Amino acid sequence: MPDPRVLEILRRTWGYDSLRPLQERAIEAALARRDSLVVMPTGGGKSLCYQLPPLLTGDLTVVVSPLISLMKDQVDTLRDLGVDARQINSTTTEVEKRELVRAARSRQLRLLFVSPERLVAERFQEFLVSLDVGTFAIDEAHCISHWGHDFRPEYRQLGELRERFPKATLHAYTATATAAVRRDIAAQLRLNDPAVLVGSFDRPNLSYRVLPRLEPLKQTIEVIERHAGEAGIIYCIRKKDVDEITASLRKRGIDARPYHAGLTREERTATQSAFADETCNIVVATVAFGMGIDRSNIRFVLHTGLPKSIEHYQQETGRAGRDGLEADCMMLYSAADVLVWRSVLGEGGGAPRRLLDEMDRYARGAVCRHKALVNYFGEDFSNPNCGACDLCLGDVEVVADATVIAQKILSCVVRTEQRFGAGHVIAVLRGENTDRVRSLGHDRLSTYGLLSEHTQAELRDWIYQLIGHGLLEQDGDRYPVLKLTADARRVLRGEENVRLVQITRKRRKSKVESQSWEGVDGALFESLRKFRRELAAARGVPPYIILGDRSLREVARLRPKTLTQLREVYGIGEKKLVDLGERILAVVASG
Ligand code: ADP
Ligand code: ZN
Repeated sequence: MPDPRVLEILRRTWGYDSLRPLQERAIEAALARRDSLVVMPTGGGKSLCYQLPPLLTGDLTVVVSPLISLMKDQVDTLRDLGVDARQINSTTTEVEKRELVRAARSRQLRLLFVSPERLVAERFQEFLVSLDVGTFAIDEAHCISHWGHDFRPEYRQLGELRERFPKATLHAYTATATAAVRRDIAAQLRLNDPAVLVGSFDRPNLSYRVLPRLEPLKQTIEVIERHAGEAGIIYCIRKKDVDEITASLRKRGIDARPYHAGLTREERTATQSAFADETCNIVVATVAFGMGIDRSNIRFVLHTGLPKSIEHYQQETGRAGRDGLEADCMMLYSAADVLVWRSVLGEGGGAPRRLLDEMDRYARGAVCRHKALVNYFGEDFSNPNCGACDLCLGDVEVVADATVIAQKILSCVVRTEQRFGAGHVIAVLRGENTDRVRSLGHDRLSTYGLLSEHTQAELRDWIYQLIGHGLLEQDGDRYPVLKLTADARRVLRGEENVRLVQITRKRRKSKVESQSWEGVDGALFESLRKFRRELAAARGVPPYIILGDRSLREVARLRPKTLTQLREVYGIGEKKLVDLGERILAVVASG
């Protein structure tokens, strides 16, 4: 049982009923003044672990966070909840600093956010010593490790904190850590007998799907249309793909904005803030987009190409559904992406190359996606049917006689002398009686009509899947001609089996997806969103700082009539009730 005072503060300040199991233990460690290493997936609720204890102890906690925009959001959110949180950066004035020192000395200041660069500066440390810091919370702690995928040199020097602040406790937080990274973080920061708390990496509210990449633009538009009015991120491998997809979407009247390292700082900031304040819902981006996105109502993440590693995939998809509501994670897969990445990574490639191969195996895999992901992070998964991935939902059906079908397709490519594209090969396999087929004499081939019982779309899917398996390749200057690879011979000789899946065009809803909209008044939800957007714009803050989607949905489900009823809603604490209560009730009454 957690300390009743903890629950009291949780309810009063945040409007939450309970702590998540790991939060409870992390907060317990912090209150007992024991160092800790907390590993939780994105959306797991790490921030609360360091935000809550100082409210109880009155100690000053210094939070080290790598991105200014991320800090600003947290500070704004906390101040909005009535917590004295501040950040210090290059734009902090002398007056602000003096005020900050006063607030710290009078034990009014609870949380001070700083960047790692600033923290390790000598003069800044002297300043901090004078403030009597009780606790350091180090966010994104994996940046300290060479073993991770996101190493930052300035993090290394955080190891000196232990000596400079012998009385302070240190707490490290990260979303991604394999056992090696975990050990490295503890060693680098010289954590003292830390409580190592590793949360479940499973995100049950996310559904994962891997689809063969057939027509990326069309597939992308389908996803956007299914999520009309909702927020999503579309990840691409290359900057060029980002530009092309953004342009094509915009041409179709979809307000998509680009984000990649090739854009100017102004362009990137413009995209990021439009996404944050919900004036734009769709961002097309490379891996460069990520850290610092705190929007909690991202409803889909679409990868149009293979991510660089499972760590990246976990983190990028992890940005979806941070409010705990259902979200869709889809990947368009083609085996060719591995080659693209290999050329980007160069010869050898070392660790990144190994991580990439793991990713490729995941995409091709036939085990539950939730299971595959948590197993990768060293965790067991016992649920035999997650109810939220393409494999468990039966979106894909494994084709029974796949190897025979593959042999027929491959032979047809051979018989037509590897001189034609997919369209013609399909026409021959289906036994189409057209002028072109006849004039080429292909109606006399032994493969003519061999797969006549299948549709054009099915055959096209399978041809793409054979390309995906590296059995066929597309080649040719003027138009893509199908050719066999060396591996294909083994299949033709019957030495190797092939797995093909039937892509049902029907998409089944995941369990969370169908439940969380139950009883929600859709029109009222939209009115509430509009109210939130306008208020956010007037106050110059991002909408999620006002209230999260989960709260809005609950209001639209419960239709509260009184402040007492409204207080029952998720995410409505005392401060929010005073600030927004009457106005929300007015929206409900008029909706
Ligand atoms: P992380 O930093 O681990 O990615 P956050 O701290 O941003 O995750 O929390 C993710 C979401 O979960 C936020 O919307 C937060 O308000 C919510 N949340 C955190 N703890 C709780 C809790 N105990 N009860 C309900 N919601 C919570
Ligand atoms: Zn599954």
